Amino acid sequence: MFGKYKRLWGKPQLKNSYDAVIIGGGLHGLATAYFLARSHGLTNIAVIEKRYIGFGGAGRNTAIVRANQRTQENLPLYKEALGLWPILTKELDFNLMFNNCGNLNLAHSEAALKAMRLHVASAQFLGVDSRLVDPKECKELVPVLDISQRPRYPIYGGMYHPPGGTVRHDAVVWGLAKGCAKFGMHIHQNTEVTGIGVENGKIVWVDTSEGKILTPCLLNSAGGYSADISYHLLGVRLPISVLTIQAMVTEPLKPLLHHVISSGGYHVYANQTLKGEIATGSHMDPWPNYTTQTTACYIKHQAEALTELMPCLKALKFMRSWAGLADLTPDMAPIIDGNDPIEGYYINCGWGYFGFKSSAVTGKYVARFMATGECPDILKPFSLRRYKEHRLMGETAATVNYSPNN
Ligand SMILES: Cc1cc2nc3c(=O)[nH]c(=O)nc-3n(C[C@H](O)[C@H](O)[C@H](O)COP(=O)(O)OP(=O)(O)OC[C@H]3O[C@@H](n4cnc5c(N)ncnc54)[C@H](O)[C@@H]3O)c2cc1C
Repeated sequence: MFGKYKRLWGKPQLKNSYDAVIIGGGLHGLATAYFLARSHGLTNIAVIEKRYIGFGGAGRNTAIVRANQRTQENLPLYKEALGLWPILTKELDFNLMFNNCGNLNLAHSEAALKAMRLHVASAQFLGVDSRLVDPKECKELVPVLDISQRPRYPIYGGMYHPPGGTVRHDAVVWGLAKGCAKFGMHIHQNTEVTGIGVENGKIVWVDTSEGKILTPCLLNSAGGYSADISYHLLGVRLPISVLTIQAMVTEPLKPLLHHVISSGGYHVYANQTLKGEIATGSHMDPWPNYTTQTTACYIKHQAEALTELMPCLKALKFMRSWAGLADLTPDMAPIIDGNDPIEGYYINCGWGYFGFKSSAVTGKYVARFMATGECPDILKPFSLRRYKEHRLMGETAATVNYSPNN
């Protein structure tokens, strides 16, 4: 017990062997653990987290979920992901605060609108609700938008995706951890994976700061640290660059932004939290690094970009800023693989800035992969081998494509 509240997950003793070990108590690690128990009855599992659960991108993201990705490989995964939030809310008995308020992505040039047309067509073809809207409809959706010719990049229209929105990121971490603990799984916080043993091409043990664990099965879902772990502890190179993403929130306001908005032209996205703050972020820092510091120039950029789009936000104060790591692949799609090149070694990383929205559904399929050894069809396009075979995906579907310079 913790005061009058019951702890949602405990502090178990580290065992010397588990059927599987998961590196990283982030979104993907916890979701995979949960589905290993829930769908496959495998509960002798340890989630090893070097700090506290949600320490990585899981607790730092801006909570945006949507399914309007660009490619036929990615769209089905994200579509199923959106549908899973209400189901998980029920089965975890934990309010994940899914708010399907819709996402509006703004275009600031004819060229950007053309690119959006293609994007919308691919989404619609695969049954994802997404449509083009003109500036007038943008204004109806978000009355505080300035659709005049005043801004440096006037609004030409947008791509509206009604089923997207936000989910409370901490709640997902806590809900999944609660679910894992209910199945008797072990979550070891403040425990760092420091070594991995391979014999005859198979995973056999994992060394941690708290002791050695024997296991035949290991999932690397360490977010920004996945590539480092894979290369330095196993010699398996992953084509991942790590970049910082910054985000911030303003002081709270009465409700005025009823949809998630994003603009590639201004490199900004924003939504209003249930507390009333405007949560906003943008693209990544342009150079690889592992820092989680925020920078003054970035904060200034966010203020300028937000007030160009919504002048009524002028004079509003930012209350808090933070940063996290994005593990980016060359084609902006994740690496999900297993048993190649090492038997028992599974990888789920390279999510960049898309890894929150996809986490629960990916956990479901990675769990199936680990439980059966068979890669589910939906995950097959994401193999590490695709880079060797020059089968890169064109998944740069966030805000960046719609800059007025395109
Ligand atoms: C500012 C920001 C905004 C974002 N906004 C969005 C968004 O709106 N929507 C969206 O879909 N995505 C967003 N993302 C991306 C998303 O947060 C990540 O893609 C996601 O968190 C990746 O999940 P993960 O489980 O792979 O990694 P993480 O959540 O980072 O978890 C990895 C965990 O591994 C642990 N770890 C690392 N090394 C070790 C070790 N040696 N031993 C033990 N544990 C270890 C870390 O401590 C960490 O807790 C954003 C990210 C940031 C930083």
